[in-house]
Amino acid sequence: METLGKDIKKLGFGLMRLPMLGDEVDIEQTNHMVDLFLSNGFTYFDTAYGYINGKSEEAAKTCIVDRYPRERFQLATKLPAWAVSTAEEAKAMLTTSLQRTGAGYFDFYLLHSLGDNRTQAFEDYGIWDFVMEQKAKGVLKHVGFSLHDTAEALDEILTKHPEAEFVQLQINYIDWESESIQARKCYEVARKHNKPVIIMEPVKGGSLATLPEPAAGILRAADPQVSMSSWAMRYAASLDGIITVLSGMSNIAQMEDNIKTMKHFSPITNAERAVLDSVNLALAALPRVPCTDCRYCVKGCPVEIDIPGVFTAVNTIQLFNNPTGAQGHYNWVTRSGATASKCIECGQCESVCPQHIGIIEELKRAASVFDR
Ligand code: SF4
Ligand code: SF4
Repeated sequence: METLGKDIKKLGFGLMRLPMLGDEVDIEQTNHMVDLFLSNGFTYFDTAYGYINGKSEEAAKTCIVDRYPRERFQLATKLPAWAVSTAEEAKAMLTTSLQRTGAGYFDFYLLHSLGDNRTQAFEDYGIWDFVMEQKAKGVLKHVGFSLHDTAEALDEILTKHPEAEFVQLQINYIDWESESIQARKCYEVARKHNKPVIIMEPVKGGSLATLPEPAAGILRAADPQVSMSSWAMRYAASLDGIITVLSGMSNIAQMEDNIKTMKHFSPITNAERAVLDSVNLALAALPRVPCTDCRYCVKGCPVEIDIPGVFTAVNTIQLFNNPTGAQGHYNWVTRSGATASKCIECGQCESVCPQHIGIIEELKRAASVFDR
């Protein structure tokens, strides 16, 4: 079991934040990114039923499946059973994913975002049995799940479902000892169960690529030649038992930088770990909303507030001290009229937020700054 993925290179292309032209995926740029990725020996692509309202899976077809032999790459996607009301709707998501991608089969198939009140939907709808049946038919090669919850919850799921072949976890150097994300504890539970790990959010939604001072200065002083995200990617990829490290790349420059880092990957040294410890200390001293822009909160908001968009504006002030830019961004993301002050405090968003952010209180603070 532990050897699953040992031949897969340790950079995976996350198709969650593809380059966009308006509401549509920028196919030309994505094609270029896919070509660069594959021609440098990388093979693992990660999409999901819900990414970019289905346009990510469609782009996987256009940019990968229709342009390369199927055996040239691995394609992963995910089933979010908690997003629908019946077992039939949940199971139909696999059919839809197969149609959208044209992939014929999925190399890796994940029950998407187990944790909190989402885990039970997969039990209620019989999804575990369903995916094992599909695996027996060859439609799915390997079955696992992604998790946004505690290490204790992960332990319970892996004990109940030893048929899971792998887990996908949020791991990065700032969340390693975080009590809310529990990256280290979750990783240790996965290893205890002898499950290989796919790492997501190694750069924490891009946050670790654009560090504020003084954190950025610490990395520049340690090595002025490399990007900030390269530190984060190498940190994640240095762990044992990893299938791959996903990076949700949005442009060619990010792709080139990741290839440069990961093509001839060297594990992070103890001296470099000490540098990252210093960065963690510097970041811990700065206030910010820890939103990763996963957008799980947005779908169920009755007044349709773009919650992560508002938090981006808040963090633009908190981290970069740029109130003009922050107000401009806020005005853009609330242009429909769904401003932070329209929140009716129903709590739906907080029940699904994997980062456990106190969204209602944060929106009140945002309203006091931006809705004047
Ligand atoms: S608490 Fe406010 S922001 Fe959250 S879902 Fe309800 S209305 Fe939307
Ligand atoms: S507020 Fe939470 S659920 Fe919403 S986008 Fe941010 S991290 Fe995700």
